[in-house]
Formats: sequence, C-alpha cells, structure tokens
Amino acid sequence: MAVPKKKISKSRRGMRRAHQALVGVSSSECSNCGEPKLPHHMCGSCGHYDQREVISSPIES
Ligand SMILES: [Zn+2]
Repeated sequence: MAVPKKKISKSRRGMRRAHQALVGVSSSECSNCGEPKLPHHMCGSCGHYDQREVISSPIES
C-alpha cells in the first residue's frame, strides 16, 4: 500500500480544505407559475417544463 512520506501539517491540511466550501443550490423561476424551481427540472408546483405540461398531477410534497 502506498504510504505518505510525511505527515500533512495542520496548515497544509487547512490549505487543501480551503477549497471545499459548500455552495448553495441555484434556483430559477418557473415560466408558467413563477414558483422557484431547480434549473433543468420540472416545476414541482405546476408540473410544467419548457412552456408545456409534463405531468398533469404533480407529486404533493
Ligand atoms: Zn410552475
């Protein structure tokens, strides 16, 4: 098994983890009902995607 030659210092470890921050989820507005929705996803409240109805009775959640 490959073993690291030197222990990674707290400083080096912190420098690596400085790039691992969580980013928030992006959201866009539904063109049909105006509700916030995930981009490239069907609208959860009206069931529309790309100006047409994809699902007539969206799943209640
Ligand atoms: Zn909608």
